[in-house]
Amino acid sequence: RAVLIDGKAAAEGLDQAARAGALELTQTLGRPPCLAVVLAGEDPASQVYVRNKVRRTESAGMISVEHRLPASVSQDELLALIGRLNIDPVVDGILVQLPLPAGLDAQTVVQAIDPAKDVDGLTAASAGALVLGAPGLRPCTPAGCVYLARQALGDLTGRHVVVIGRSILVGKPAALLFLDADCTVSLAHSRTRDLPALARQADILIAAAGRPGMVKADWIRPGATVIDVGINRVARPDGSSALTGDADYEAALDIADFITPVPGGVGPMTIAMLLINTVRACARRAGLAIPASVAGTGAG
Ligand code: NAD
Repeated sequence: RAVLIDGKAAAEGLDQAARAGALELTQTLGRPPCLAVVLAGEDPASQVYVRNKVRRTESAGMISVEHRLPASVSQDELLALIGRLNIDPVVDGILVQLPLPAGLDAQTVVQAIDPAKDVDGLTAASAGALVLGAPGLRPCTPAGCVYLARQALGDLTGRHVVVIGRSILVGKPAALLFLDADCTVSLAHSRTRDLPALARQADILIAAAGRPGMVKADWIRPGATVIDVGINRVARPDGSSALTGDADYEAALDIADFITPVPGGVGPMTIAMLLINTVRACARRAGLAIPASVAGTGAG
């Protein structure tokens, strides 16, 4: 049976590393690192995500400032807020919770964030730094995937990684981060031909398509590592609902060597990497060395 990769434990370790880094910076700067979180509208899932981000930021010894805006907020008002946060000297990180309410253009808003404060790693400057292999803030969920793969396998050099999904948020940056880790990367998507055959070649299979149970047992090479990014809410026969990943988990357990569960795998890593990025952003903005506790945890 596959060994489970415990994302919750890994995330707790990273939270502690962020806490140690935040404490060090607080002592040097005379103030804690600060994350500004922007939430527009009333989307229930977004509210839960934001609450968790705020709670974990604060318990890591950092300041979290929440900016809640009505769904009716205009694009110009939102951009004006980003502008104020960009020039606020005590704000180290800016996170705009997506999706934005209808009528607002997420790309324009995200691209307005100062790259030095781009803790989600989604601006063009951050994406460019990732492509160039230059220092910068890396997207959180894909950085979490690399971290978990390293935790399971150690050195990743030369491993064949097949990433399923090419979104800007997950698949595309995941491919680049694994490339940076000296892996051989195949980036698959909805138009890929004979995906099962390609997936079977993977030493590390990253499932990020958002399709529950898509990755069947016979897509997995015996001994492979499966990192399941998918978070899908599926209905149970009794009318309740459950979260499942993109892999047929029970079947995969008999074939893979390592696998991330859903929930409790990649999910908790995203906020952990957000905290790490906030510490990194704070140190870089102040011209200080990245605290030793967080150096080498996030890619970048
Ligand atoms: P997305 O819908 O933007 O992208 C999905 C990608 O999968 C697309 O590139 C598409 O080409 C590909 N795809 C879709 N169907 C496919 C198929 N049948 N075969 C091959 N490729 C297919 O989604 P996303 O934002 O990248 O998120 C993907 C999944 O990861 C979702 O389930 C999402 O909920 C989850 N997610 C989890 C976290 C986390 O763990 N914290 C963060 C972000 C996203």
